[in-house]
Amino acid sequence: MTSLFSEPCKPLLQWYKKNLRDLPWRHTSDPYRIWISEIMLQQTQVKTVLPRYEQWFQSFPSIQHLAEIPLDDVLKAWEGLGYYRRARFIHAASQQIIDKYNGIFPKQFEDILTLPGIGRSTAGAIASFCFNMHTAVLDGNVKRVLKRWHKQYEATDKQLWDIAQQAIDASKSPAMWNQSMMELGATLCQSHTAKCDICPVNTYCQSAFSNVVDQALSKKKVLVKDVFWQINLHAHPEKGIWLQQRPEKGIWAGLWTPPIIELSQKPECSPCHIHLLTHRRLHLYSKYLSSTPPSDGRWVKQLSEFALPTGIHHLFEKQSLLDTTVSR
Ligand code: SF4
Repeated sequence: MTSLFSEPCKPLLQWYKKNLRDLPWRHTSDPYRIWISEIMLQQTQVKTVLPRYEQWFQSFPSIQHLAEIPLDDVLKAWEGLGYYRRARFIHAASQQIIDKYNGIFPKQFEDILTLPGIGRSTAGAIASFCFNMHTAVLDGNVKRVLKRWHKQYEATDKQLWDIAQQAIDASKSPAMWNQSMMELGATLCQSHTAKCDICPVNTYCQSAFSNVVDQALSKKKVLVKDVFWQINLHAHPEKGIWLQQRPEKGIWAGLWTPPIIELSQKPECSPCHIHLLTHRRLHLYSKYLSSTPPSDGRWVKQLSEFALPTGIHHLFEKQSLLDTTVSR
């Protein structure tokens, strides 16, 4: 595949300088701050991340601080951002940075790549933004822009990495190049809308004004499986509500929930709450029980002190159980 990026595309960089969104992680080159922003933004929208970003550094001002905190506290701080695996990886990576790099975020791309939860694209972003290295980024936004720009809708990741790397190699400012490609995909060349009329690269792009959005949407078929869960609520007027910690792997790993039983078929009544994950639709049916709770778990009075999955949070909200000493 021939790259169109034999020279850096100046109009893109000029557009970026004029139009970049003023986001807090764009005012720093501190690798700790960039790393956390990149991980938070992986599967969570900017508007959700914004208020949580500064809160994070108030709770965990340094990598050292983060590494010494129990994992449960980190999961609690992650509540509402979803995909909790990311918080577990951040915690493990902070400990690796302390053990292996004396608490200083590594500067070499290969070293960054060894940290838990950091793949090639995130490592590329950190290395270019913080250390001005010529390392490419290939997140979902950049992939989409490259496919459209080159009219290569079926391109493999390997082909896209090659193009992205060629572009970075030709760029004098790898950080700005990566940022501008990410920003273009996030704002003008979106999956559902391509604003080709105001796009700074519309004279270079091979898909400009060619209805790329329809092609993208027709390919987007995500298989979602329905799952029916009974949420057993053991509530006690003085002791609170019985919670268990989920296993280390699987849905809601390491978070706290009431005992859950998977039902083999859909109950006739309506669920109390439906929670959507990437490949699962969880139908949650709450059931109050007066029997003795299972042996593993504990009584909890203040739910706000525990990391609850968003789905359980909503279910408790609907049952008026949140942030109260339970009295049913
Ligand atoms: S011209 Fe249109 S399709 Fe091409 S990069 Fe710009 S917005 Fe995307």
